Amino acid sequence: MKHNIVTAITITAIALSGIVFWETGFVELVIGLILLIYLAITSYGSFKIQANYFTTSINHGKRKAIALTFDDGPDPETTPQILETLREKGVKATFFVIGKKAEKHPELLRRIDAEGHIVANHSYSHHYLIAFFSTAKLKADIEHCSNVISEILGKSPQFFRPPFGVTNPRYGRVLKALKINSIGWSMRSLDTKAKNKYEIINRVISKLKARDIVLLHDNRAVTAASLGDLIEHCKQTGIKIETLSRLIQKEPYA
Ligand SMILES: [Zn+2]
Repeated sequence: MKHNIVTAITITAIALSGIVFWETGFVELVIGLILLIYLAITSYGSFKIQANYFTTSINHGKRKAIALTFDDGPDPETTPQILETLREKGVKATFFVIGKKAEKHPELLRRIDAEGHIVANHSYSHHYLIAFFSTAKLKADIEHCSNVISEILGKSPQFFRPPFGVTNPRYGRVLKALKINSIGWSMRSLDTKAKNKYEIINRVISKLKARDIVLLHDNRAVTAASLGDLIEHCKQTGIKIETLSRLIQKEPYA
């Protein structure tokens, strides 16, 4: 964890500058500056999952292919549309489901699994304050989602993606205790902000490269609308699409 190293360096720097600048009259200024830099680094580390600052996430594939990942479902409207397109095009994907939604739509979860896609954990609550949950509360939330999935599918997910991509030291501890892999992404489709399917298609097509883990959302109508064209582009340009487990060479379930 890079965070521990940065914290140790900060404490040392504060102690040293306390000694060096004690007599100079600007000791507060120097220490304040060090703390500001520390804060900037830790907030960057929280919001940038690829920085692997608090916990090590898998953000790239190991093979010359890409994986499509869908967060925030299952959704009774848009998930079936996405599954239909994937089936038509013969493509397998990975779904990071929200536990409380999966609980309401077990039939969708079974369908995702039966059609050869991977089901993964995206927390039970997806609470907007989940990054502020205590270690115990966070662990209970993530375990709750895994339990919902294993009750429906009879297998426990090994892939987890933190809601909003925000991490902190507690995630590192919890995921280590649960022996679950944290999965990030290397390519953001920005589909949650897109006003039409062309915004998603243009962005993904212009940025896509081998080994990418693509972040999409299966609760968005624009995403469902863009998927057919996205897959067609990959096929025409020779980009192979695989499940996440194949791309990163790890087992999806325990
Ligand atoms: Zn999410």
